[in-house]
Formats: sequence, C-alpha cells, structure tokens
Amino acid sequence: MQRFADKVVVVTGAASGIGAATARRFASEGALLVLGDLDGDGGSDVAKQCERAEFVRTDVTKLEEVEALMQCAVDRFGHIDVVFNNAGILEPGTLPDVEPADWHRIIDVDLNSVFYGCRAAIPHLRNAGGGSIVNTASISGIGGDYAMPGYNAAKAAVVNFTRSIACEHADQNIRVNSVCPGPIETPMTAAVSQMPELAEEYAKVIPMARLGQPEEIAGVVAFLASDDASYMTGAAIVIDGGLTACTGQPNFRRVLGLG
Ligand code: NAD
Repeated sequence: MQRFADKVVVVTGAASGIGAATARRFASEGALLVLGDLDGDGGSDVAKQCERAEFVRTDVTKLEEVEALMQCAVDRFGHIDVVFNNAGILEPGTLPDVEPADWHRIIDVDLNSVFYGCRAAIPHLRNAGGGSIVNTASISGIGGDYAMPGYNAAKAAVVNFTRSIACEHADQNIRVNSVCPGPIETPMTAAVSQMPELAEEYAKVIPMARLGQPEEIAGVVAFLASDDASYMTGAAIVIDGGLTACTGQPNFRRVLGLG
C-alpha cells in the first residue's frame, strides 16, 4: 500500500514507541515526514530509518516550537497533509500528594500540546485544501485508572477536544480523530516488563492476555489518516486487546475452570 505517496506528514513524539513506529509506517507507505521530539538523538535515528524525513528538535509544550515544526514541513515539502499529535508522558501519583507543578506538567505535555499541534496545523491544512489530524489519547481518557489523575484528566480532554475540533473543521475538509491505545509495550510501560506481578495482572484483565505492540497502533493511525477513513471524523478509536470491552467482573471461566 502506498496511501501516503508524496503526502506530507508531521509526527510528534516520533523518537520512541508509538510515534517512531507510526513514522516508520507512514514512510513505508510513501510519506514525506517531518518528525518532532525533545529527544534529539532518538529523533534523528528514526528520521534516518524513514526514507525522506527531517527531524526537528521540538518541545511540544511550547507553541512557538510547534509552529516552527509545522513551518519546517511547509518550507521543506511545500504543504502539510497529515499531523499526528502523539508526544506524551505518564507520571503516576495519588491525591493529596500530587504537586501542582506535576499536575500542570502533565496537562501541558499531554493536553496543551495537542491544542498547540491543532492550532498550528489548521491554517496549513486549510491552505492545502484539507487534511487529517490524529491525536493520541488513551483508554485512560475513557475511564478512570488508579494513581493517574492528571493523565486521566488530560487524555479525557484530548478525546473531547478532538470531537470539538472535528465538528468545527468538518466543512473545511479537515478530519480529526483520536486513538485510544490500551497498554502498549514502549519505554512508557517499561515498568511492566520489570515487574512480573504487573505483567501477571495485565494478563488477567486483558482478554487478549498481552500488551500491544506500537506497530498495532501505527496501523490504526495510518488508516485514520488515510482516505480509507474519508467519512470518519471526531471518532475515538480504542485499540486495547479487549480491555475496555470487559465489565471488570471476575473471569468466571478461569476461576470456575469452565474450559
Ligand atoms: P514513549 O515514552 O515511548 O514516547 C513518547 C515520546 O514523547 C518520547 O520520544 C518523548 O521524548 C516524547 N516527548 C515527551 N515529552 C515531550 C515534549 N515535551 N516535547 C516533545 N516530545 C516529547 O511513549 P509511547 O508509549 O510511545 O507514548 C506515545 C503516546 O501514546 C503518548 O501520548 C502516550 O500517552 C500514549 N499512550 C501510550 C500508551 C502505552 O501503553 N504505551 C497507552 C495509551 C496512550
């Protein structure tokens, strides 16, 4: 498939995990890429793995740097077709111990960055006659977790912000969707492989009994960004091995040995 032949795609959080896998997926389908991340070495490495890609060191919590990232894409390749706002962090904590500075940081990196990415992208997408934005939310934006209040709040806001922007720009041929991954094996979830009890818990609650791979998110992002999803906007697509399909009741089949 070459759904992105000569399409210009901007990816944030591209140095690692889901962003890196998605950049490689876009590249494999012919895209011209501009990659942004705080991590200069990692970002440059991923750019080298993609055939026609530029890396721009970008802090997504700074509007002027996000605007410069978009401008770089236009200067280098002439226009922008797709933006994947994906950079994010996860910092656990419980109330009342969450420090206001940590709260503000997670809102900044996980939510304000998506606002900046959309704000900076929309004029360029309009100039190109339309385009597609995909924002990385999470299943943590759909339900509550333990010890992640800031992350839950930020990701829920990404889901609904995406809907809002989708409505607002649908008549300008700009589609905006979010992806809601479940637990995916990336540096963000490194603790899972380091703590067998955490891995066991996941195996119990995820119907597919495993974490996802970043490439399994990349495929869905590429679909949403492509013309294959031409009638989709404002959607929040869950990719979680069935985790949120469960009510959370005990696994009677396993406990009662029902085969
Ligand atoms: P990751 O840690 O592998 O990658 C995140 C990337 O974001 C890193 O390259 C990091 O340098 C970059 N980044 C962090 N702060 C930044 C900033 N201020 N400016 C620019 N870049 C910055 O993690 P990942 O799992 O690939 O996460 C990607 C996205 O997916 C995040 O938004 C995350 O919340 C979301 N997500 C991840 C999971 C999971 O289980 N891994 C599940 C649901 C959602």
